[in-house]
Amino acid sequence: MPTAPPTSTHSTVHTILVEALTASCCLTGIHGWGIFALRSIPQDSLVAEYRGEIVRNSMADHRETQYREGGQDCYLFRVNDDVVVDSTNCGGISRFCNHCCMPSLYTRVINDANNNPHVAFYAKTDLKPGQELTFDYRFKEEAGDKVRCECGAPNCKGSLN
Ligand SMILES: [Zn+2]
Repeated sequence: MPTAPPTSTHSTVHTILVEALTASCCLTGIHGWGIFALRSIPQDSLVAEYRGEIVRNSMADHRETQYREGGQDCYLFRVNDDVVVDSTNCGGISRFCNHCCMPSLYTRVINDANNNPHVAFYAKTDLKPGQELTFDYRFKEEAGDKVRCECGAPNCKGSLN
């Protein structure tokens, strides 16, 4: 079995210790890497944080173009119209969390004392060990290029955007 890709130890935000206890990174059938529950996770418990660098939307657009031109996978989580978490170069394993139209996780944005947003993943239902951890990427609908979804869920929308 291949080893998980390296993840940075430099986190721009605080570490949520439960992440190491609840999730592990593996190759999946959906889209390269994915993360899986290591143990039973009760509904509504905190599973992981989408860690990374907090950047403005305009900067994220610029970086996305650069990453794509460089042939690099990019991991950008759009928090709102102003802020994006970029975990391309410094993120936790949650950046390998795949999209699913029937996800096992939901996200919640929590602002810390300095008003910096943190994207946290919670279990949508009781999760079993080995179950894949997924969330709904909620990409904006675009008329142009569609990104095909192959999540296999009964309610699959067929595309991510
Ligand atoms: Zn789908």
